[in-house]
Amino acid sequence: MHPVSTELQMHLECISQEQLEPCFVYDLDALRQHLDKLMAQDVVKLWYAVKANPLSRIIRTLAEAGFQFDVASSGELHQVLAQQINPEQVLNTGPAKSKRQIDEFIALGVRTFVAESLNQVRWLNQAAQAHKVQLKLLLRVQLRWPKGEKNPLGGDTLTPFGLDPQQWHGLYLADYPALTCIGVHIFQWGNMLSADKLLHLWQQMLPPLQVLSEQLGFAMQVLDLGGGLGVPYDDESEPLAWQDVLTALAQIKRESGVQELWMELGRYAVAECGYYLNPVVEQKENYGEQQLIVSGGINHLLRPAVAGQAFPCALLRTSTAPTRAFNIHGPLCTALDSLGTHMLPEDINEQDWLVFTQTGAYGFTESMPFFLCHPMAAEYVIADGNLHLLRESAAPSSYLR
Ligand SMILES: *Cc1c(COP(=O)(O)O)cnc(C)c1O
Repeated sequence: MHPVSTELQMHLECISQEQLEPCFVYDLDALRQHLDKLMAQDVVKLWYAVKANPLSRIIRTLAEAGFQFDVASSGELHQVLAQQINPEQVLNTGPAKSKRQIDEFIALGVRTFVAESLNQVRWLNQAAQAHKVQLKLLLRVQLRWPKGEKNPLGGDTLTPFGLDPQQWHGLYLADYPALTCIGVHIFQWGNMLSADKLLHLWQQMLPPLQVLSEQLGFAMQVLDLGGGLGVPYDDESEPLAWQDVLTALAQIKRESGVQELWMELGRYAVAECGYYLNPVVEQKENYGEQQLIVSGGINHLLRPAVAGQAFPCALLRTSTAPTRAFNIHGPLCTALDSLGTHMLPEDINEQDWLVFTQTGAYGFTESMPFFLCHPMAAEYVIADGNLHLLRESAAPSSYLR
């Protein structure tokens, strides 16, 4: 676990004394410092992938730091606009853009779209003509490598994101006068912790993308490389250094000749600012192994169950007792409700709280809060050194009918 400042530790302890239920805490002061570091460059234009954490105060902190916003649903768009973000600063990605959603986005002022299918291109053009506006368009490409060649992605799983180049080759852009195709979008890797690997991946994407832009007859002004910058979820992994990412991106910018590189960051932008505080219910020994049963599980943090990767975990209190491995289980009556195996002091007990880190991304809204009728997690922010409760822990009676 990364070291926690004394001020933050004080806030977390204070919450553990007031609260009975698990909750999330987001350190917006630390977030702002991190974002300022990401923005201090002119290599890549940064968007925030709202799905990582759509909390109002997180969105506002990103806006204040100068990020623009990548949204993938009507709900995300409304949440961003409710924070006074200009719709011109919104980019729309996502495989499910119905005609109705496209119409709504244009009516609300969004002008930049990533097309993921031929229908999306057609529908975007129709809607733009109906609204008498011109849209900026990027084509999302899904690449594969011929069998036998080393696949840089380590697999060729079909996803609904974008289209293979052959499908795009059937597009005749002159048929869509309300769309200005400014570039391509490609993103098919996740949680990468090596700048060298990223550079290698990106370099192999360039030739097929350049062929596509030549064949379709548009200049590749923008290359959008999506997200995928990783954060460490275990003690062995080293964080990805931003300077190394920038060096790799600068090389890609030179080699591709594009005017602008774009990325939409989720995890790398916000994971580290989030903490999930979780009371211990009890410790027990079972077949020679130590188990900790805790109040909140995958109802609040689903990611370990779907990604097979636990969030880092530590004891909130300082203990000098020797550590041992504990299997941590949430309260849901399914074996899926595991938050991983962690080394923790052996004197841990039912008075204690655990703190899970890197939970600023893919936490609260990625989860399944209704199963087994437990309370929804509270959400706190720390801003200018002060703690604010944004969302109370909600009793099941508030959402059950
Ligand atoms: C989820 C997503 C991202 C962010 O991914 P991270 O790996 O969290 O940075 C970026 N772009 C698109 C299109 C996405 O769907």
